[in-house]
Amino acid sequence: MNLKIGEELNGFSLKNFSEVGELGAKTYEFEHVKTGAKLFYVAANDDNKVFYIGFRTPPKDDTGVAHIVEHSVLCGSKKYPLKEPFVELVKGSLNTFLNAMTYPDKTVYPVASRNAKDFRNLQDVYLDAVFNPSMLTMPEILMQEGWHYEISDAAAPLTYSGVVYNEMKGALSSPDDILGRKLMHETFPQNCYGFESGGDPEFIPNLTQEMFIAFHQKFYHPSNSFIYLYGDVDIAEQLEYLDREYLSAFDKIEVDSEISLQPTFAQMRRVDEVYPIGEEESDAEKTFLALNFVMGNIDDTLTNLGLGVLSHALFTSPAAPVRKALIDSGLGKDVDVGLEDDLRQPTFTITLTGSEKNRVDKFYALLSDELKKLVEGGIDKTLLQASINLMEFRLREADFGLAPKGLIYGLRLLKTWLYGGDPNAYLRYEDDLAKIKRGLDENYFEGLIQKYFLDNPHKVLMTLAPDKNFAKERDAAQAAKLAEVKAQLSPAQIQDIIDTTSQLKIRQQTPDSPEALKTIPILKREDLKKEAENFPLQFRDMSGTKILFSNIDTHGIIYLTFYFDALKVPQDKIFHAYLLAELLGNVDTKKHSYEELAILTNLNIGGFGVNLHADSENGLPNSFAPRMRIFVKALGSKLEEMTDILAEIFNDTIFTNKKRLREIVEQEKISFELNLQNMANQIVSAQISAYQNKAGAYNAASFLPYNKFLKDLLADFDANFDELVDDLKDVLNRLINRNGLIISVTAPETLYKNFVPHLYKLLKSLTIDEYQRENYSFPCKPKNEGLYSQSRVQYVGKGANFIELGHEYTGAFNILETILRYEYLWTKIRVQGGAYGAFASFNRNGNLFFGSYRDPNLSKTLETFDGTADFLANFNVSEREMDKYIIGTLSKIDKPLTPSLKGQVAADLCLKNITYADRQKSRNEILSARQEDIRALSKVIDDCMKQNYLCVFGNEAVIKDNAKLFGEIKSVAD
Ligand SMILES: [Zn+2]
Repeated sequence: MNLKIGEELNGFSLKNFSEVGELGAKTYEFEHVKTGAKLFYVAANDDNKVFYIGFRTPPKDDTGVAHIVEHSVLCGSKKYPLKEPFVELVKGSLNTFLNAMTYPDKTVYPVASRNAKDFRNLQDVYLDAVFNPSMLTMPEILMQEGWHYEISDAAAPLTYSGVVYNEMKGALSSPDDILGRKLMHETFPQNCYGFESGGDPEFIPNLTQEMFIAFHQKFYHPSNSFIYLYGDVDIAEQLEYLDREYLSAFDKIEVDSEISLQPTFAQMRRVDEVYPIGEEESDAEKTFLALNFVMGNIDDTLTNLGLGVLSHALFTSPAAPVRKALIDSGLGKDVDVGLEDDLRQPTFTITLTGSEKNRVDKFYALLSDELKKLVEGGIDKTLLQASINLMEFRLREADFGLAPKGLIYGLRLLKTWLYGGDPNAYLRYEDDLAKIKRGLDENYFEGLIQKYFLDNPHKVLMTLAPDKNFAKERDAAQAAKLAEVKAQLSPAQIQDIIDTTSQLKIRQQTPDSPEALKTIPILKREDLKKEAENFPLQFRDMSGTKILFSNIDTHGIIYLTFYFDALKVPQDKIFHAYLLAELLGNVDTKKHSYEELAILTNLNIGGFGVNLHADSENGLPNSFAPRMRIFVKALGSKLEEMTDILAEIFNDTIFTNKKRLREIVEQEKISFELNLQNMANQIVSAQISAYQNKAGAYNAASFLPYNKFLKDLLADFDANFDELVDDLKDVLNRLINRNGLIISVTAPETLYKNFVPHLYKLLKSLTIDEYQRENYSFPCKPKNEGLYSQSRVQYVGKGANFIELGHEYTGAFNILETILRYEYLWTKIRVQGGAYGAFASFNRNGNLFFGSYRDPNLSKTLETFDGTADFLANFNVSEREMDKYIIGTLSKIDKPLTPSLKGQVAADLCLKNITYADRQKSRNEILSARQEDIRALSKVIDDCMKQNYLCVFGNEAVIKDNAKLFGEIKSVAD
C-alpha cells in the first residue's frame, strides 16, 4: 500500500502505519472520514482472515443489558430477516471462528474464514446485525434472549425465563465466580467495572424494553466503533465496501462512552461476603480470603509484562516463595492468583482457598511481611529468570490452539486501542522483554512489589464464607417477589402474560420462510475441498521403541509426547496412577528439591504436562488402551537440557517429602471441588460412558471417584502415608519404562536428527521391566444418577453405544451433530427451553451423547432428547438447507491447526487406528449425503434413546422433585 499518512482511500484516512517485527507484518490505522469510525488493519501473510466490529459498551447497572444486546442483535436484521442469522451462519459457513463476546466495557463481534467469499458473507451478516437489528422493533427478542415472565395458566406461579437469565444463573453458580464478581463490585464502586456486564440474575428482570433500545442506540454507532481486519484481504476493496454498504449512511456524533477511571482509594476496603453451600455439607475451611489490587493503567505495557513475570515467580511456580509461605502457614490450602488485564485499570487478585474467616488478619499480615522481606532481601534471580524464560517462550511460540492467530492479536490490541492508545502496543514485546531482562540486575522487580503491592492503597480485602441458608433465603425472596408481582396483576393482565408467552412460543416454533432463509448467502457444494486433510506420519524405531514422527515446520520448537502403557498398573491402583500424573515434575527427585526442579524446568523447557486417559479403537467400543501421556516442548537449542530433566523426572522422582505430597493432594481436592460447576457437563458425559464400557469407566474414574480417593487419603494422611509411598513407587516403576512405550515427535527433520542422540540416551536410561498387562473389569451398569449440588441450573445427559446396538459409524453422523445442535436441540432446548445450549456427539467407537448446558429444565429436556428420532424420521428440508448443513459440518472438520496440534492429531489418529482411508470415506459420505441418509439415522437414535441411560447434574430441589427418573440420587460432594 502506497498511501501516505493523511491521505484518503475509499472514505478512510490513513492515520498511521507501522512495521511490527514480532508479527512480521505491517499495520495500518485508519479513520472513516464521515463518521470517525476507527479501523485497524494487520497486513499479515495469513489466509485465515479475521474481521471484527467492536463497540465501547460500559454498563451503568447490573441488568446485563450489554450482554443481552449482544445476543439480541444476532436475532435478525434488515437484510437478513430471520430469527437467528448467527445460527444459520454456524450451520452453513466455512468460518474458522464465529462468536460474539461481552466484556466489562466492550462488545466484540469477530468472524474468521480462509475462503474470501465466505469471509465477506460473514462480515455482511454481522455488520447488518449490529447496525440494523430486528430487536429494535420486535419486543419478543428481549423476552427470549433476556428475560420474561412465564405462566402456563392463571393458577400456576409466575416464573422468570430467558437465555441470558439462565446463562448467568449458571455462570454465577460457583464460589470463585461469586468472589470475582463481588471483588469487582467493591474495587470499582464509581465506574463501570463495578457492574456485572453479563447481568446478575437478581437484576436482569429490571431491564425494560426502553432501556434495552436506548443502550443500542447510544453505543452501536460507527462513531463509537472499532473495526479490525487481519490477513490476506484486499484492503482497498474492504474499505470501499465498509463505506458503501454501512458506514456512509451515518454521520459523526459524539458518543459518551469513555471508560472513566475509578479514583484511587485513600485506604484499603475490608468486606465480608457469603456464598451458598448445601445444608448437609460441612462448612469447615471453606472460606475464601482474597486481596484485590488495582495495578495502575493498562497502557503501561512494560509494567504489565513485569507483573506477569512477578505473578508467576512469586505465586504460581512450585518454587514461588509467597505461595509457599501462605501454604506453610496453614492458614489455607491453596493459593490462586490472577492478573486481569482486559480492563483499563488492570487488577491483581490473590486468593487463599480452604480457609476460615477469622484468619483474614493473619493472611493479610503474612502476605505483607513476605512481600516486604522480598523487597529488602531481594528476589532470587534464578527464580525470576526462569519465569521470564517461560513468558518469552509463550510469546514467541504464539500457539493459541484452535483460535485463529489474527483473532488473538485483534483482541490483544484492544487493550490499548479501546482507550485511545496505540493499537500496536501489545503486539510488540521485544523492547519490554529486553528491559525486563536488564531489570533483573537493577532491582526492577523489587520496585514493582514496593509500588504495586506494598505502597498501593487501592485494594480490597474480602472474606467469602459458606452459608447454608443463603440459597434457601434467596430462592424464597425471589418466590415472594414473584408472588407479590402476581398478586398485583389483574386477571386480564395475567391472561395477557399467558397470551404473550404462548405467542412467543409460536414465533419460536415457526420456521423461517424459505425466502428469508435465502437471504443468507452460502457457498456451493462444488466450492468444498474433496480431499481429507493429510497428517503425514513417519514410523521410526529406536532400540525397539516406536517413534511417530511428524515432519512439520515448528519454528524451532520440538514437541514430544510420551505414551506410557498404563495397563501394567493393577486396577486397584488406578487412582494412584491419576495422582502420579499430578506429582511428576512437581515433587523432589534424588538430585533436586521440587523447587529447584521447577526452576530448572522453566529455565529450559517451554511446557511439561501429564495426563492419564484410556482410548478405544476405531469401531471397537470394548477395546481398551489406557496410557499415561507426558507432553513436553522446548526450543531446539535446549535439547540436551530438556533430555536431562526428563531423565531425572522419569528415573529419579522420589516421594519422601510428605509435606509436599500432602499439599498437592489437598490442592487437587480443592481445585476439583471449585471446578465442579464448570466440569458439570464432562462429569455427566463421563458417568454415562462409565455405564457402558471399560474406557468410559476408566476415564470417568478421574472425576468423582478420584475425588473420593483424595478425600479418604486426607482423612488420615499420616497413617496412610507409608502405604501411599510404596504404592506410588510401584505404579511409577510399572508406568515409566520402555516396555510398550510410544513416542510422538513433532519437528522438522533437521531438528529430529539433532534430537536422536539425546533421545537414545534417554531411552537407554529407562528400564525394560516385563510387567504383566493387567485385566481390568468394571461393572459397566447403567446407574441413572441424579447428582445434586448448589447449582441453579441443570446439565442433562443421555447416551448409549450405537455399535453395541448393531449400527455402524458413518460420516453422516457429523452432519447430524450440526443439525441437532443448531436446529432441533437449539430450538427446543435453548430457544424454547431457555437453556444456554445443548448438543449431541457421535464417536467412531460408537459412543453417543446428548447433553444440555445451563438448563432450567430436566424432564422436558429428556423428552426432547427422546423426540429426536421422530424429528429425524420426518426430516425434510430444501436442498439449499441440506447444502448448508454440509458446509457447516466441513468447516468444523477443516479447522486450521497449529504445528503442535497437527502432530498431536496425527499421533492420536494412529493410536486409535483411524486411517486416512477411514477419514476420506467419512468425508465422501458427508459430501454426498442426501436427506434420506439423515432420516436413516432416526432408527439409530431411537435404539439408543430406548436404552434410557441418563445422568443429570443439577439443583438439589429439582433433582429430588424428579426422583422417579433416577436409579440413584446423591450429592456430588459425597
Ligand atoms: Zn451469552
